[in-house]
Amino acid sequence: MTTEILKINDPNDRRIENAAEILRRGGLVVFPTETVYGLGADARNKAAAQAIYAAKGRPSDNPLIIHVARAEDAELYAETNKYYYDLAKKFMPGPLTVILPRKSSIPPETAGGLDTIAVRCPSHPIARSLITAANLPIAAPSANLSGRPSPTNADDVIADMNGRVDMIIDGGECEIGLESTIVKLEEDRGILLRPGAVTVDALLCVLPKVDIAPAVIGKLAENELPLSPGMKYRHYAPDAPLVLLDGEENAVLQFMQNAPQNSILLCYDEEISSLSGKRLLPVGKRNDLAKQAKALFSSLREADRLNAEIIYAHLPPTDGLGLALYNRMLRAAAHTIKNVSEE
Ligand code: AMP
Ligand code: MG
Repeated sequence: MTTEILKINDPNDRRIENAAEILRRGGLVVFPTETVYGLGADARNKAAAQAIYAAKGRPSDNPLIIHVARAEDAELYAETNKYYYDLAKKFMPGPLTVILPRKSSIPPETAGGLDTIAVRCPSHPIARSLITAANLPIAAPSANLSGRPSPTNADDVIADMNGRVDMIIDGGECEIGLESTIVKLEEDRGILLRPGAVTVDALLCVLPKVDIAPAVIGKLAENELPLSPGMKYRHYAPDAPLVLLDGEENAVLQFMQNAPQNSILLCYDEEISSLSGKRLLPVGKRNDLAKQAKALFSSLREADRLNAEIIYAHLPPTDGLGLALYNRMLRAAAHTIKNVSEE
């Protein structure tokens, strides 16, 4: 299939209507959001949902998130409740996905066969304009081939999706760079299934109780079923093995200084001058977690393009936005953590 690639920066661009038309007739359109690029199709159309799975090479038991233009549109597709609206008031439009009981207007194919559905109302102006123009809920997982790091810019989308979708809208770089926070609502209790830019502390401003699903930072036991099917073991992964370095600041720096030449180092900006001669991909300042989040997936892809044989990175903290970084990096590294202080 030939993929039309359009650069669009203005949400009023008339060509968004062409993209909307593709969605209405069951086609696939990749579009930018504030988190990562999404691979969109009509969420009500089971053939279109199946086309998403085929384009991504994704197992069809891994459910899709549906994107709506207004938080209250969730009503058409899910059983909402007071806590949904409390969350919506504070975080929508924005990088939060809520899991609710599914209504029959959304076929099981879109939900990976589950009786719940994930709803998100993105804030990116082009995403919003596209959903409104199409006048339908857009089912959209991240626009990467299954297992690969999510794309946060159009070049990374094109690398995975050119020839697999009808259209790619290039809206520049994604602001956040990590996928949305996913919270499952069970009455007044939230279960955090995937950490993102809406942090646990932020959720606790609205929900009386938030539990973190064990798979967010831990390893699932063999044969254990995750609450969220996307929590499978290796995910977001570059081709080269990624190793996360744990230990004191100086010990990690020293390890990086002695790392072999075939390795690529995801280092902090402050470390650049101490690592001259090494192959570096700086990810931002030590304390700038937002910048590190934005840089993570594109850096992992860049390390592959540079033919890294092994990638070393800092183990991120687990508080605030750090939890989202930790969760993605742990999966990208298939849980490989090296403690360098003990050596
Ligand atoms: P992606 O669209 O690539 O960000 O992946 C969406 C992820 O959302 C899936 O991999 C699941 O982990 C999660 N998800 C979507 N729908 C549900 C649901 N109904 N219940 C639990 N997790 C869900
Ligand atoms: Mg994904």
